[in-house]
Amino acid sequence: MNNIPDPYAESVDPSVQCTSCEAVCCRLTVVLLPDDHVPEWLIHRDERGMETLAKNEEGWCLAVDPDKLCCSIYEERPTICRKFAMGSPGCRDARLEWRNHYSIPTPVVLI
Ligand code: SF4
Ligand code: SF4
Repeated sequence: MNNIPDPYAESVDPSVQCTSCEAVCCRLTVVLLPDDHVPEWLIHRDERGMETLAKNEEGWCLAVDPDKLCCSIYEERPTICRKFAMGSPGCRDARLEWRNHYSIPTPVVLI
């Protein structure tokens, strides 16, 4: 056992929870990797052949289940989605950008 601190663990804010989030990370562009196997209708190919998850007109990943507001391919979701950690810097940036873009006030924290 070593005592070297994990820098990634320290970068996660445990107060951030998916259960109180609009799943705004599902608006980010997700590049598909060779080992990813998602349904063909979810694949967007650009003119250079790069594959990303397809989005709807409002910018949400097509795999978002509109009724349950969750990932409809959770077990087969791409690698990048699997590695995207709740409370990580990328997660917090996505939430901040969403709030700023839509002028959503930061929730008041009652102590
Ligand atoms: S990972 Fe972050 S941005 Fe994505 S749903 Fe969870 S809290 Fe929201
Ligand atoms: S595949 Fe699932 S987890 Fe990944 S962006 Fe789409 S809805 Fe979100």
